[in-house]
Amino acid sequence: MPTLRVCSLYPELMNIYADRGNLLLLQRRCAWRGIGFEVTGATLGDGVDPDGHDLFYLGGGQDRDQRLCALDLVETKRDALHAAAGAGKLVLGVCGGYQLLGHSYALGDEEIPGIGLVDLRTVREEGPRLIGNVAIELGGWGPGQRVLAGFENHGGRTYLGAGEEPLGRVIKGHGNDGRSGYEGVRRGNVIGTYLHGPLLPKNAWFADWLIAAALGLDHLEPLDDALEDAAHVQARTAAGI
Ligand code: GLN
Repeated sequence: MPTLRVCSLYPELMNIYADRGNLLLLQRRCAWRGIGFEVTGATLGDGVDPDGHDLFYLGGGQDRDQRLCALDLVETKRDALHAAAGAGKLVLGVCGGYQLLGHSYALGDEEIPGIGLVDLRTVREEGPRLIGNVAIELGGWGPGQRVLAGFENHGGRTYLGAGEEPLGRVIKGHGNDGRSGYEGVRRGNVIGTYLHGPLLPKNAWFADWLIAAALGLDHLEPLDDALEDAAHVQARTAAGI
């Protein structure tokens, strides 16, 4: 049986809205199938081995923590993450982590750098934070399931470059900027999204897609997903769909 090797970036700093729940969900779904699971934390100052992991996870964060991590990310981890993504490894950024996958996060006169894995920019504009339950519909890829449901809470508005595809289209909620109808980004195995609350326990099918893609498997043994399906339905209902 294979082992899913996850690199958790800044687990103690980029970890709001239960990002740990995302990792626990991956761990449980692997364990129930007899798939090995290991998670390695990489925090400030740590190097990252691009070949040593199948999935790189960067969670949400307050502006203050994001600032700290962004500088470190660019200095000590950017090249490795580019190498990993170039080799087809999965990279998943959620909310603050999603923002840092792009070029920059501008807060007034300040510009927090991102690692430029995807062509997007985030700007903290005038106006309220974009908060609430959210549901999106994915484009024509991935498994049969197409709806992701979760919760968003971000001050930044994210704008995709012209050649970049969103992860999905907003059915309910704000998404990237509250106007475009786009949510998240997907370029091959690099995925960013504002959905948390947390994302994977509410969308177990998406977690399975990640596990399969990270391990290069065509098929995963089905599980009894009664509770997970109920969580998904609850999240969709909360979003009003
Ligand atoms: N600090 C970022 C923002 O407010 C991201 C917030 C988050 O990760 N929830 O836009």
